[in-house]
Amino acid sequence: MTGQTAKIAALCECGSAAVRQVNQFIDHGELWWDAEFTCDSCGTYLCEHAGPGAAPDDVRVALLAAHGPARLRLVEPVSSLVPALKVLREVSVVSLSQVRELVEKLSHDGVVGTLSEIELLKTRLRLRGVPVDIDR
Ligand SMILES: [Zn+2]
Repeated sequence: MTGQTAKIAALCECGSAAVRQVNQFIDHGELWWDAEFTCDSCGTYLCEHAGPGAAPDDVRVALLAAHGPARLRLVEPVSSLVPALKVLREVSVVSLSQVRELVEKLSHDGVVGTLSEIELLKTRLRLRGVPVDIDR
């Protein structure tokens, strides 16, 4: 299972410094994320979120800061980018013009995201026969 974890500093209701631990991973071919809050001072433990879907920005920012971005690129030229367009429309909640931009990036600078996001995209694109790989 591909996954990444990051810790975000937070403030507990008791006034002590606490930690939010966020995780993003792929489960059964879907992107999941979760967040748990722990305060060592008062012993508070909360599961804030656990479920499928795209992670919110603060979670993504923490993961990207902790692990750096992953980058996905075409490894060889393709005759048609239509399959890539279809996959990107399926996995992202972006507009058609943004999808076209993403496809354009695939063949140039690469599409950037967290490792889990990019791994999922890689798997889906390869299933459709789009030759892509992650730059490491
Ligand atoms: Zn506390």
